[in-house]
Amino acid sequence: MKTIFRWLRWTLRMTWSLFWGFFWTIGISFLILVGIFYFTDSSASGASGLGHAAQKVVYQAGNLFGDQGFAARFGMAPNSQSNQTDNHEHNGARWDQPEATVYLDPNISQTFIKAYRDAIEAWNQTGAFTFKLVTNEKEANVVLTEMDNASVSAAGETASQTNLLTNRFTHITVRLNRHYLLNYVYNYSYERIVNTAEHELGHAIGLDHNDGESVMQPAGSFYSIQDMDVEAVRQLYKE
Ligand SMILES: [Zn+2]
Repeated sequence: MKTIFRWLRWTLRMTWSLFWGFFWTIGISFLILVGIFYFTDSSASGASGLGHAAQKVVYQAGNLFGDQGFAARFGMAPNSQSNQTDNHEHNGARWDQPEATVYLDPNISQTFIKAYRDAIEAWNQTGAFTFKLVTNEKEANVVLTEMDNASVSAAGETASQTNLLTNRFTHITVRLNRHYLLNYVYNYSYERIVNTAEHELGHAIGLDHNDGESVMQPAGSFYSIQDMDVEAVRQLYKE
């Protein structure tokens, strides 16, 4: 009888210490990883940086266990809508000539500045439309900047003002959304960020969405400027 009790007590004690051992291992590993992500991620600071680092650990742990739904249950995995490039509403307007002056906001992410420059270069290369960089924001037809907006399922947006009598643009503001494009969770490559910039500049030219193999596909941002896009610009500005 005594041995049975002793054995039972021993089992309970082992289970208990195993449980606490497991708990502490997980807990301390988590804190260490959060610390590592926090101090190695230069873009994060303060409480939001800590939250960001904690999210990263949960997300990476999910990846480790190969469970796609793991991070989703914490509300931070990409959903189908996050793939959306934007919610652009086409109004059929364009510029008078196939050219526009552009001001590139210097106070935005360096990645976005580079992507915008590459996108401008790509459109100018087509010969169908020319963006001219200017240094005075007030002189610019188009302003290129950024936003950090989690409440829209859009990687970018192009807001236009149009003279309704002539159906010509008067001013456009393009914004790339940091919340999706610069968030490791959504896994955007630099190439797709440039494609998104080219897409928004396509709207700034006057192009509508297109479901073919086109930079103007409304979701995915998998295509750069294609021949059909160049043709669409030529058609739009033909007279
Ligand atoms: Zn669009």
